[in-house]
Amino acid sequence: MSDKKKEKIGTCAYCGQTRIIETIGDVELTQAELDAMATERCVCPPAQEEKRKKARKKKIHDFVTKKFNSPKLQGEMFEIIGTVEDDTFEEVTLKLYPDINVRIWKDSYSNLHIKIKRTEDDELKA
Ligand SMILES: [Zn+2]
Repeated sequence: MSDKKKEKIGTCAYCGQTRIIETIGDVELTQAELDAMATERCVCPPAQEEKRKKARKKKIHDFVTKKFNSPKLQGEMFEIIGTVEDDTFEEVTLKLYPDINVRIWKDSYSNLHIKIKRTEDDELKA
C-alpha cells in the first residue's frame, strides 16, 4: 500500500470555486465526491447554508432515532416532521401512547421544535 499524497481538484457546486483536495494512498474519489468535498469546505454563503441545513437535518435525525426506538415509528416521525417543515401543517400533535403526546411545530424563526410530553400522573389506588 502506498501512502503517496495525490492532489485532486474539486469544484464548489454553488460558486464554482475550485479547491485542492488531497488524497492519501490508493483512495480513488470520483469527480462528484471531490466536488462534494469542495462544496463542503467552501465558505461562500450558499455552501455555508447547505452545511447548516445538513447539520440541522442530522440534529433532527439524531433526536428522533434516540427518542423513538422502533424503526417504523422513526419513519412515521420523519414523515410528519416533513409535513411541518414544508408548511403543509403549521403544527402537529400526536397522541403516541396512552400517556405520551408529541408536538411538532416551527417557530417564527423557522426553527423546528419537537416536544415530547408525558401526560401520565403518578397515581396509586390501593
Ligand atoms: Zn462555494
